Amino acid sequence: MMRIIRNLILIIFLLAVGYFLFKYKQSRDEANPLTDLTKDSVYIFPGVKGPMNASIVQPMHRTSWKKYATGEDYGIAVLLLDSSQNSNWMGLVHAFKSFGIPFKFYTNVDEALKNDVVYVYPGVDASTNPVILAKLTNFPQRGGTLIGQCVDGGLDQVFGFNTSNGTNQNYRIRISNFNSPILKEFTDPKEKEISLANPQLFKESEGTFNYSGLMGSPLMVYPNGMAFLTERDYAGGGKAYCFGMDLGYWELTATDDRALEAHRTYVNSYEPSMDLVFRIVRNIYTSSSKTAVTLGTVQDNKKLTLCITHDIDYTLSVFNAVVFAKMEFARKIKTTYFYQTKYILDWNDKAFFDDSVVKPLLALDSMKMEIASHSVAHSKVYMDFPLGTGKEMYPTYHPVVKSATFTSGGSVLGELRVSKFLLDHFVKDQQVISFRPGNLALPYSLPQSLIATGYKYSSDVTANDVLTHLPYQLNYDRAYDEEVPAFEFPLTIEDEALPQMDKRLDSALAVAHEISKYGGLMCVLIHPNVVSYKYKFEVGLLDSIQNTAHISTIRDFGDWWAARNNVRFFVLKNATGYQLHIISPAPMDNLTFFVPSTWTCATPAPTAKQTGNSVLVSNVTNGMIINFTAK
Ligand SMILES: [Zn+2]
Repeated sequence: MMRIIRNLILIIFLLAVGYFLFKYKQSRDEANPLTDLTKDSVYIFPGVKGPMNASIVQPMHRTSWKKYATGEDYGIAVLLLDSSQNSNWMGLVHAFKSFGIPFKFYTNVDEALKNDVVYVYPGVDASTNPVILAKLTNFPQRGGTLIGQCVDGGLDQVFGFNTSNGTNQNYRIRISNFNSPILKEFTDPKEKEISLANPQLFKESEGTFNYSGLMGSPLMVYPNGMAFLTERDYAGGGKAYCFGMDLGYWELTATDDRALEAHRTYVNSYEPSMDLVFRIVRNIYTSSSKTAVTLGTVQDNKKLTLCITHDIDYTLSVFNAVVFAKMEFARKIKTTYFYQTKYILDWNDKAFFDDSVVKPLLALDSMKMEIASHSVAHSKVYMDFPLGTGKEMYPTYHPVVKSATFTSGGSVLGELRVSKFLLDHFVKDQQVISFRPGNLALPYSLPQSLIATGYKYSSDVTANDVLTHLPYQLNYDRAYDEEVPAFEFPLTIEDEALPQMDKRLDSALAVAHEISKYGGLMCVLIHPNVVSYKYKFEVGLLDSIQNTAHISTIRDFGDWWAARNNVRFFVLKNATGYQLHIISPAPMDNLTFFVPSTWTCATPAPTAKQTGNSVLVSNVTNGMIINFTAK
């Protein structure tokens, strides 16, 4: 008994000492004499003050599904059985757009079933309207392709299984039938098996359905042997495929960076987990419709987009950056320089954004490099900053980093608007529209804050973290209800892991090879704090892929990607073949369309240029028509 009491007293004592030390450290961080702001610790450019206009964050307005229920009947017909905000159809919208899959939303089953391929969203069960179930049952029997997900009764047999069980204990999925035409392209080990969640961190995985009692063999299975993806072939050519999870929800949680840490590596390698399922959806579509056309993801009909980015967050980097830029300029490429406007001395570094920066900054601009923002404070705790007033101004905005865990005076809006103001003040040829926070710290309010402060593009997560190697549209509050007109360009390769970058060139090229199989983005981060081996890496990378990749800044690729995001297209049959109609609200260049292999482009170059099944269309105008003959 005495021993228990003695141990208890000891534990209480140790806890008290720990708490005291924690509080002491915290108060020291907050009142650190080395980082307390004095008159001398703020660099002031004489006469420079702004921005004068306030930044206003708009309240959230739900995006309506009706936005995607207009236009011609073409592409995948998504039958929304639940069009409310409880269903995550916006995830399908964003993935289909990124992957170039045409689609249209329907709530009327008869209208939907006029198409070749119908995706029933978000799922069906025994309580689904029997009239709808009967019509869907009939659809593959008369030659249509039905795609389902989360089917739990109602259509089990239609999709070719007998039993469905919901579970959140499936962490992995693997391909089990490589003979299937829609799966045979997946040969990389990372594609043969994909990840849904990290079992070390989460006791529950994403919600999934186990399908069993199959009529045929499964296309993809869980480790428990039950099916994730089923296929049923019908005598008249119809097909039915069923996925074991809500692909829309998965897309939203992954790209909102709210998913269950499913990535198997964080950066510097290939992580196709989510991309794989949408490539499968695309394959189902193109193999099921005789007029299936999809939209490419890379400019100039190249196979890969390469964005080289440089973060300037250290004194020497300001000057080293020019060394990199000169090499890039000589090679006739443009890259992105994310600039920290550090005018305050703090725990991180001295206030290097002073008069000496102006000349090297303008040198980058004169070589046509993109100037972008890398925040003011570069705080590790930016994600915890308050939103701010939207009236923060230079030189009175004073975010002071006092330790790794404490920053005073910073705000989400202040970091965005003040850094942009300073860069825009000195650089007259271009306006800052791309942002990368320090340490990739990601506030929930960032998407709407980007819009409020005049940005359009961010690069603030790793591709592996969000399970996709394609850019994507951002959502208000990184949530589920409103899409905002801003896009993310996730990072693929960085420069801080070991071994040194130049020793990792082969592995970076191997990642580029995998991503280029489906037109992905390789976004590379090189801090110019060191020239030697980092410069060597960049030269080696460019020597290897400069001719095969489309090399772009975040701004230029972003502008093209944002315009592409609004492109719609459809196909009409005529006496001689097919017409591809392109609707593009903004004129744009260099769109690639993938067409059926039996089609030959009849519209001459330079307007349209066919190579195999890809057709590069130049100078896209609204209402443009490209003609094809078909065997
Ligand atoms: Zn940085």
